[in-house]
Amino acid sequence: MKHYLISLDAGTTSIRAMLYDIASKRFVLTAQQEVAQSFPQNGWVEQDADEIYYKAAYVLNRCVTAAGAEQIAGIGLANQRETVVLWNRETGEPIAPAIVWQCRRTSEFCASVPAGMRKTIADKTGLPVDAYFSASKIRWLLEHVPAAKSLLAEGKLCAGTVDSYLIFKLTGNFVTDHTNASRTMLFNIHTLDWDDDLLSYFGVPRTILPDVKPCTEAMGEVRFGTARIPLAGVAGDQQAALFGQACLTEGDGKITYGTGLFLLFHTGERCVRSQSGLITTIGYSLGSKTVYALEGSAFNAGSCVQWLRDGLGLLATSAESEQLAVSVPDTGGVRFVPAFTGLGAPHWSSEARGLLSGITRGTTKAHIVRAVLESIAFSARELADCMQRDSGICLREIKCDGGASANDFLMQFQADILGITVNRPVERESTALGAAFLCGISLGIFGEKEIASYRSCERLFTPAKDNSRQEMWYQEYLKAVQRALMN
Ligand code: ADP
Repeated sequence: MKHYLISLDAGTTSIRAMLYDIASKRFVLTAQQEVAQSFPQNGWVEQDADEIYYKAAYVLNRCVTAAGAEQIAGIGLANQRETVVLWNRETGEPIAPAIVWQCRRTSEFCASVPAGMRKTIADKTGLPVDAYFSASKIRWLLEHVPAAKSLLAEGKLCAGTVDSYLIFKLTGNFVTDHTNASRTMLFNIHTLDWDDDLLSYFGVPRTILPDVKPCTEAMGEVRFGTARIPLAGVAGDQQAALFGQACLTEGDGKITYGTGLFLLFHTGERCVRSQSGLITTIGYSLGSKTVYALEGSAFNAGSCVQWLRDGLGLLATSAESEQLAVSVPDTGGVRFVPAFTGLGAPHWSSEARGLLSGITRGTTKAHIVRAVLESIAFSARELADCMQRDSGICLREIKCDGGASANDFLMQFQADILGITVNRPVERESTALGAAFLCGISLGIFGEKEIASYRSCERLFTPAKDNSRQEMWYQEYLKAVQRALMN
């Protein structure tokens, strides 16, 4: 029996390979490389796909060398989503910089999509029309990169997301998985196939796109010297985190408290359309079973704590926010709305801006810090309310991860304000864990039902029996949001 799996986590700012010890159920080694981003024009964000591949190969090699290729059962992959690469099928060389998910260069085109088409797109893909998703980025590249036209004519052009580029380079196969495909805005999440109407609307020929497979399909083999290691188990990063948190049943949800906040809510094998502008996405697919999720995000969460620390100088470290927050019984009427860059679901305002209200002569920095932490929990509550209303499914428990999930005050407050348990795992690298789990299932090392036993809880935050005070504060917060929207 081989001892290890490798999780390759190709994120936006860094690429990591982590060695997962199957017996101890822990990561035992991490190799990491930063990835550069460039900003050639206002609102444009690019990366070098070659760099992504070389750094992925480098970190993989570090893990393989450390463990010995013969000890590695397989490699699972999780990756930044929506980012687009165009490459030459014969040489594997990218023909243009990758357009990163944050890039806004196609906003104008997206704004011009007529209402009828928007509805068709939302019905088929679960996505609102936005420059964030891959379709308009591929369209832009096909129009603006001269080599794309000639390669297309010769039948040598490939277009794909970061997973498909890495799999192509590592194994030679041109494939992607359901979760990554579901973020392109070209993929019909009901039929599980590229959609001809959408391909035609965006001018993307089917021939340049990869084959789409379930997350647990064998994608190919990676050579290390004479050894060949299967690459199996692929998902976009947020979906991998959902799986890594063992959210395996309808009503399970996870929140990642990083720079921003991501809530994914498992809606079972039912594809729920949101009335609040949330995204419907494929959560994961295990063979022929496809699970759907609702996804909502708040643009600013941990970034607000960074602002307290670096912008206002109120904190020496992010962790210090906890001591200050618990040093006061409440915010003294202060409310904060984390709208530095507008507000997402359910408000969708890019004009809204941050707001601090209710300040008196008695306000201290502890009150302000506490108001900021509470606002993070309130924005998650707004998303959770939308999801439960849209789906008619109750959230049963929240599994948490990300940097700010280390904050006990925030996690307890979150439990109180949601009225459900917040469950914090020992291993908070949920994305990498999800890739390892998908890989292990794909290789038959463990079954879906065992996954829950591979995740251990570090601490449960149970909601206060009486949360009427917190509920009143939430209503105050909602009023402050209305003021932020009037900006
Ligand atoms: P990302 O992956 O988005 O870069 P991380 O998951 O690494 O983010 O989390 C980093 C964020 O978490 C930072 O914005 C930081 O301010 C915040 N953070 C880290 N520790 C704490 C803490 N103990 N309390 C509150 N916020 C924290």
